[in-house]
Amino acid sequence: MMEQSVEELLAKLVAVPSVNPEHSADPAVTGERRVADFIAGYLSDRGFQIEWLEKTPGRPNLIASYGPDDPKYTVLLEAHLDTVGIDGMTVAPFDPQIRDGRMYGRGTTDTKGPLAAALWALDRDRLQALSGASCRVIFIGAMGEETGNEGAFEVAEHGIRADEALILEPTEMQPIHTHKGTLWFRVELLGLSAHGSNPELGRSAILAMKKVIDALNSQIEADQHRFEDPVLGLPTLNIGRIHGGTALNIVPEKCVMDVDRRTLPAEDTRAILRRVDVVLAKLKSSGEIREGKVHLIKDCPAVATPPDGRLIGRLVKCCAETGVKAGPAGAAWYSDAGAFSAVCGETAVFGPGSIKQAHTCDEFIEISELHRGAKCLRGFFSALADDVKGMR
Ligand SMILES: [Zn+2]
Repeated sequence: MMEQSVEELLAKLVAVPSVNPEHSADPAVTGERRVADFIAGYLSDRGFQIEWLEKTPGRPNLIASYGPDDPKYTVLLEAHLDTVGIDGMTVAPFDPQIRDGRMYGRGTTDTKGPLAAALWALDRDRLQALSGASCRVIFIGAMGEETGNEGAFEVAEHGIRADEALILEPTEMQPIHTHKGTLWFRVELLGLSAHGSNPELGRSAILAMKKVIDALNSQIEADQHRFEDPVLGLPTLNIGRIHGGTALNIVPEKCVMDVDRRTLPAEDTRAILRRVDVVLAKLKSSGEIREGKVHLIKDCPAVATPPDGRLIGRLVKCCAETGVKAGPAGAAWYSDAGAFSAVCGETAVFGPGSIKQAHTCDEFIEISELHRGAKCLRGFFSALADDVKGMR
């Protein structure tokens, strides 16, 4: 039987809609289950054992594994199953078309292209070489990446561990060894309401929040002096949302603010939150507020894998062998790698396709790059088997 080409495989994956449920209300296209079933079928045909982790009802994560139960080494491959929505698309989202050397459709680049390249690369020869070298392969299909990496965290918390992790995303075939973390939190202040004509009788939660903003600004300024990453640059702060007060002539009793803090690998997110707690405690003890609370919304750690380590070195070498000039790189965006870098050894993000075409109205991937990615990953799995064979 002729082997199916990587673009045939990608076309099949794109034809199975898996829009993140928060991006669409149409049940005909939303949810990860259909594409997860498709991938499970593909991998079980190749001898993978299939396991499901469905902590959020209707939103399964796929855990497929191949190789010895007591391996010398474990590699984890991960791709998110969801895509963004399809509103305003100018190409057919689920009927992939090839034109001018490109395949168009939702997910062609983010991230079904990189996923197809990896699935195609895991042929019987590679799988046999890996398991013969005592290397176990764990493939994770995670739900909910586009809205907050929920699936990746569910899988990481489930106890999945590996010596190295390759997260499949369109990186233009550059091995991403580091990206920033995301710390999202909400500050809630409770003052005391009073009539607007007697503000001295109340305690304005809005004026108190102004002091919190001032404190956050001086903290980020200090952090930007203290921390600078040679690849990622400076940590950042964005106050994305604020809401306070109920009427023009009432002293506001309540004020709520949402903060988006991007962190560097060297920073301690708990310390960042503790400093906010200290500010709130001072406002309370000075009587400016009755109550102040910080709620953590999301703490996704930054990723920092050594650029001169085993994983990045192997990726760079396999790129060179495929005719791609690549070197260790950093990224401004966030990925599922944060969740897995906390529980795996070296972690990298890699794949064909460009993030510039992700989430666009005419999303596409260059077929030639898809081929290079698939070939490069085949080389990667062979090289991994050799590496593991050589390990004590
Ligand atoms: Zn993605």
